[in-house]
Amino acid sequence: MFNKGKINTVRTFALGLVFGGIIVTYGSFLVESTWAMSLFMLLGLLMVLASTVVYFWIGFLSTQATYVTCPTCQKSTKMLGKLDECMYCKQKITLDAQLATDIEPTNKP
Ligand SMILES: [Zn+2]
Repeated sequence: MFNKGKINTVRTFALGLVFGGIIVTYGSFLVESTWAMSLFMLLGLLMVLASTVVYFWIGFLSTQATYVTCPTCQKSTKMLGKLDECMYCKQKITLDAQLATDIEPTNKP
């Protein structure tokens, strides 16, 4: 998972948690017993809380992200660490020259 656009992946995950939490909370109205209802509601609440934590975490990570201009689509994208992927065209990008597989020639004629 961390080889793909990390920020986007974690955001999608957090969004999924929010929807999951809402669905689980809604499911609590469908069960008969009171204890099961409380359990579903608690679980739904925990999922929404967890997604909030994930959003805070990704916000923190975003402040540490490096802005680079994607060589393929020329858009400004964020990257985490030394190896990430363009948010727009999924072009793999790296800050480490030793990991690069396709280096642009620096001295074009
Ligand atoms: Zn791109």
